[in-house]
Amino acid sequence: MELAVVAWFALGVFAGSVAYRLADYLLERRSADPPGASFTPRCPRCGATRRLLANVATIARPLRQRCRECGFLPGFDQIAWEIGVGVAFAILAAIAPTAVEAAWAAIVTLTLVVATLTDLRARIIPNALTFPMSAAAMVASFLPGGVGIVAAALGGAMGFGLAMGIWLLGRLLYRRGDVFGLGDVKLAMFIGAALGSQDVVRALVYGILAGGASAVALLFLGRSRKTTMPYGPAMALGAFAALVTR
Ligand SMILES: [Zn+2]
Repeated sequence: MELAVVAWFALGVFAGSVAYRLADYLLERRSADPPGASFTPRCPRCGATRRLLANVATIARPLRQRCRECGFLPGFDQIAWEIGVGVAFAILAAIAPTAVEAAWAAIVTLTLVVATLTDLRARIIPNALTFPMSAAAMVASFLPGGVGIVAAALGGAMGFGLAMGIWLLGRLLYRRGDVFGLGDVKLAMFIGAALGSQDVVRALVYGILAGGASAVALLFLGRSRKTTMPYGPAMALGAFAALVTR
């Protein structure tokens, strides 16, 4: 049991390094690169191909595995994300009744992490992430311990509908769509499909609470009331909280 949790932590650290790079890949693919640009392990600065483990900052940094072309070394923020995903995977493995349920919860968590990273980096949550993963949630609902296709479809519709209501409210109150964007609406659809109709409202309420708390914190840190913050990370945090407390 303990060994399994340690193995899940190690898997999470590796998955965190993939998520860190995948977020950049989705944003690059969206802007310039032609679709089909391959997702091979390569240096984020010069693009030289690297060995897979050299892109795991938690390993590369202490071992000084610099890029042979440009000397790039992954940063400490990447280590923080990798350890964070490792801890999240270990928690999920410790509480999930079966390995299948732990695996699906880990994939949901990784999707939330990638959405958080793209939203923080570019204020974008790509459709190339939320659409396929919403479809994957429908398929995963059939797995043993899954929410079932009815709850997944209803949850996705509820997440989309409720978030659309918030988006419309934002447009009416602020006359702008960037406070709570359409990317957030599609993230809410994925969260609803993944957690099912029984947990979608709880996940969104947690997300709104997390968003409110961070807005207050930013205000205390002296940020202007006019600067908007991305809502995706708060929603992702809320969904993870709902995932581990159900
Ligand atoms: Zn390089």
